[in-house]
Amino acid sequence: MIFPSYDDNCGWFETLGSITDYPPMQQDSNFDMVVIGGGFTGLAAVRRYAENNPSHSVLLIEALKVGQGVSGRNSGFVIDLPHKRELELGDKCYLNKVMELNRVAIDYLEAQVNTYDINCQWSRVGKYQAAVGNRGIEFLAYYKSLLNNVAEEYEDFTGDCLENIFGTTYYQEAVYTPGGALMQPAALVRGLVDNMPVNVTVSERSPVIGINKRAEGFTIRTSYCTLHCGKVILATNAFTKELGFMKNRILPVMTFASWTRPLTATEMEQFGGQLDWGITPADHGGTTLRVTQDRRILIRNGYRYAFDYNTPPQLLPKLKKQHRRAYEERYPGLAHIPFTHTWGGASSLSGNFETYFGKLDDNLYSAGCDQSVGASRGTISGMMLADYASGIKHELLDNIVEVSGKPSRLPPEAILRLVVPLRMQMQKFRSRSEI
Ligand SMILES: Cc1cc2nc3c(=O)[nH]c(=O)nc-3n(C[C@H](O)[C@H](O)[C@H](O)COP(=O)(O)OP(=O)(O)OC[C@H]3O[C@@H](n4cnc5c(N)ncnc54)[C@H](O)[C@@H]3O)c2cc1C
Repeated sequence: MIFPSYDDNCGWFETLGSITDYPPMQQDSNFDMVVIGGGFTGLAAVRRYAENNPSHSVLLIEALKVGQGVSGRNSGFVIDLPHKRELELGDKCYLNKVMELNRVAIDYLEAQVNTYDINCQWSRVGKYQAAVGNRGIEFLAYYKSLLNNVAEEYEDFTGDCLENIFGTTYYQEAVYTPGGALMQPAALVRGLVDNMPVNVTVSERSPVIGINKRAEGFTIRTSYCTLHCGKVILATNAFTKELGFMKNRILPVMTFASWTRPLTATEMEQFGGQLDWGITPADHGGTTLRVTQDRRILIRNGYRYAFDYNTPPQLLPKLKKQHRRAYEERYPGLAHIPFTHTWGGASSLSGNFETYFGKLDDNLYSAGCDQSVGASRGTISGMMLADYASGIKHELLDNIVEVSGKPSRLPPEAILRLVVPLRMQMQKFRSRSEI
């Protein structure tokens, strides 16, 4: 059984400064609800369940510290639009449901940021999807046709406009969609865990090593104690299969990021662009680029089939070099600015690109395979799992059930280890002009 482990590479987490400590629970205890996993899904589930049921005792249990998992390691886009596969395959009614769900999640996160004054660079600036070469431009044309199908608002940018915003002539075209938000992910999830309702207990650094069903509920074992509870929400993303659920249906995939130190005032002048924007690549095998409010430039690209959920140390220098190349091609005038951090994180995909949502057993709920757009999809899944577990019924819950599916059964591990890296290499080769 593999548990999450933390390296100290993640820039978002490592630059947080001092954070609250929620020590591991040491004593055997009883709870009405235990939520396992403190990412976007688990944090939304625990808050919502506790609010729905103020007289219930609720435990959030996390293997690491909240923010060290992938919810604190991502690129910080909170996206309202369906991911590419959904846009391609879904009919208008289906896509409107996905967008409504994502937008409810964004509003929910924003309300907490405002209510608790969470200092996480939250801004409702939307995002750009940008193309480098002809391949990217073709992808953008297709993307625009998909947005037209669902009557979604967008703006097309070409030429000088792009340089004025991005500080580089590297991109030929960009499509701006206004609906999403950007944030500092580790700061956001720390802010969320620090402002839980009074009936929530938080136990960090507490990997769950087993879940057993009993006539009267569940026992949950950690290295320190045994917990008894009536209901469980499993919000463990790629690790869900390690706990014995959704086996052979979850594909753990890592992607990687690097960022610079904050640019100085002189370097900002050299840069010549604006702060606080984010680009996702027109060709999804390409590079994500962000410039943060605190003047760092972030590059994300590269994928790995993460059967071990980890970044092998020997891989990091290679990834850093790949990120460096992408950075220097975009900002040759800023080539002297070093990267301070390079990190990766494991997300869950499914073979057929389906997400899942619902009951895994009586009183055991889970959601996952969010196809790497988990800031919004994980949040809404957590909220809806909590409502489901509370017996609250409404249209939004029906809608998330409707837009979720069943991840297909994957081939045996030995075949995956051969085939998935090969497919990733092929994708990387095809997308090379956009990396
Ligand atoms: C580099 C990178 C960039 C990304 N960029 C974006 C982006 O810009 N926007 C976006 O929406 N998505 C992005 N993603 C994906 C996004 O981060 C995930 O989809 C999202 O964080 C999933 O949230 P979650 O709560 O479902 O899972 P997680 O964040 O993985 O949370 C699961 C938690 O469960 C804990 N856990 C696991 N096993 C156990 C156990 N046995 N006991 C106790 N706890 C356990 C883990 O430690 C973890 O904290 C990116 C991912 C990466 C790696």
